Amino acid sequence: MSQVVTEQRSEVEIEPREAMDYDVVIVGGGPAGLAAAIRLKQINPEFSVVVVEKGSEIGAHILSGVVIDPIGLDRLLPGWREDGDCPLKLQVTEDRFYLLGPSGGVRLPNFLMPPLMNNHGNYVGSLANVCRYLGAKAEALGVEIYPGFAATEVLKDETGAVAGVATGDMGVNREGKPKDSFTRGMELRGKYTLFAEGARGSLSKQLIASHKLHEGREPQKYGIGLKEIWRVDPSKHQPGLVQHSFGWPLASDTGGGSFLYHIEDNQVVVGFVLHLNYKNPTLSPFDEFQRFKTHPMIRDIFAGGKRLAYGARAITEGGWQSVPKLAFPGGALIGCAAGFMNVPRIKGSHNAMLSGMEAAEAAAKALADGRAHDELSDYEAGWRSGPIGADLKKVRNVKPLWSKLGTFIGVSLGGVDMWLNTLLGLTLFGTLKHGKKDCDTLKPLSKVTPIVYPKPDGVITFDRLSSVFLSNTNHEEDQPCHLKLADPSIPIGKNLPEYGEPARLYCPAGVYEVVYANEALRTDPRFVINAQNCVHCKTCDIKDPAQNITWTTPEGGGGPNYPNM
Ligand SMILES: Cc1cc2nc3c(=O)[nH]c(=O)nc-3n(C[C@H](O)[C@H](O)[C@H](O)COP(=O)(O)OP(=O)(O)OC[C@H]3O[C@@H](n4cnc5c(N)ncnc54)[C@H](O)[C@@H]3O)c2cc1C
Ligand code: SF4
Repeated sequence: MSQVVTEQRSEVEIEPREAMDYDVVIVGGGPAGLAAAIRLKQINPEFSVVVVEKGSEIGAHILSGVVIDPIGLDRLLPGWREDGDCPLKLQVTEDRFYLLGPSGGVRLPNFLMPPLMNNHGNYVGSLANVCRYLGAKAEALGVEIYPGFAATEVLKDETGAVAGVATGDMGVNREGKPKDSFTRGMELRGKYTLFAEGARGSLSKQLIASHKLHEGREPQKYGIGLKEIWRVDPSKHQPGLVQHSFGWPLASDTGGGSFLYHIEDNQVVVGFVLHLNYKNPTLSPFDEFQRFKTHPMIRDIFAGGKRLAYGARAITEGGWQSVPKLAFPGGALIGCAAGFMNVPRIKGSHNAMLSGMEAAEAAAKALADGRAHDELSDYEAGWRSGPIGADLKKVRNVKPLWSKLGTFIGVSLGGVDMWLNTLLGLTLFGTLKHGKKDCDTLKPLSKVTPIVYPKPDGVITFDRLSSVFLSNTNHEEDQPCHLKLADPSIPIGKNLPEYGEPARLYCPAGVYEVVYANEALRTDPRFVINAQNCVHCKTCDIKDPAQNITWTTPEGGGGPNYPNM
């Protein structure tokens, strides 16, 4: 193992970290990271593989729809359908698409939908539970899994190649000083390190910048996905029904749509994805989601039901043209950290697993050849011509058309383009550009009509705080704030007068507030960060117009505790 050069990150005077050596270190225990770990052990049980996961357990931070295209699972664990332990049992029975207006909507005939949008043969369930299943499989194969540990630092060797990660120190107080419970982080050194942190991963973001992995690519685009799980009246439950909509409550120049899946046990999953290139700073993704549930064609499903869970998470939307260079000396990006989400299908878990397997195969070959800390060029070279590339290439113009031409024309043209791509391998548009980053799309307050949202009724619609309560979010209170402001004066000095400080509205967990000494007169505004409410969605890191907020990992184990999201 080559020498590892480490930075002193913590503000306290501390002893050196202990180090453990592995063949492969994996950051993130989602579908990408766990598929990579399993594939490595399938190829060679002697490989030493470790997975670090910031959630308190595998699955605790996983939030997804989820309708799963089984292509990834079929390749990873071909016998999963017969495996009684696999939580994915329910196949999609019916697929419906709606275009909604304020008081009604039309169902789009299924024959109009491009075949790749068809959910026939897909499974509906909980991705968190699928990850728990994959975690158990990985452990049975000898993978070491450390939940409750956040990777906070990329380790480099003397050549600058990535050589593993360090986990964060635990037991540091608000001022950065050690408490009685102080425990030093660990160095997990690997010949290769795979970053599977999901959308807008904090270390992945640093690596993309430091290795210029985004050069020559379109900017990554994002959406915020919000989700609730309801137990509904059994008479309204149709197991396996999968329903999507677009249109109301969003204006035509705002991209997004809903999903509504009937899973097992009289449960219905309802969610809303809102594209983060929205322009109106008074828009609130959380309140648009709440409003959606009140639509006359939707609200009856929830009448007499009970909301069980809530959460939110960013998704990547840039697709084919935004995927960065994946491999760099000593490591690679996999899953949504690389941006392998298929936006019109609202599916990424299959590509997350496939990319994890492909990176694992490249790493296994390199290890067998006695290599270490170099670039996994096979992985880099393979994805565009493989199944992930085939999945993303056909839909590459949907998001740019939607952004440029609005919901009605953009989505229709996107549909035509998907049909042509599927049937003839042709496109009318080449490969369209995405244009601006999501942080650059807001208009000043003076140029928009403010959106006013109805008050929650506490029955179908709710406020942020009662929602966060259902995410079981918990952080150690006495720790440094993990939401870092590069310039603390910007929220009140710039964002408030120009945009009304949009963090108050785009944060789905009520973390950011502007409070006034005198609320009525709006004097002496102060920006407050309730970091303990953070559900780790990463939206603030993406959407802040000044790019002043950096999401960093809090103490390991903190954050939401999603049961079956
Ligand atoms: C609302 C919504 C609906 C969706 N619907 C669907 C759907 O129906 N079908 C579908 O296929 N896909 C869907 N997706 C997308 C799907 O969830 C993702 O594509 C998939 O989860 C990506 O897997 P991943 O392993 O790359 O990342 P993730 O699932 O995000 O997992 C990353 C893991 O890494 C951990 N982590 C991150 N950083 C660190 C760190 N520094 N240290 C330690 N651990 C870390 C996180 O806690 C997390 O457990 C949806 C997503 C959303 C948000
Ligand atoms: S603080 Fe940021 S990452 Fe946390 S919930 Fe709010 S927007 Fe999401």
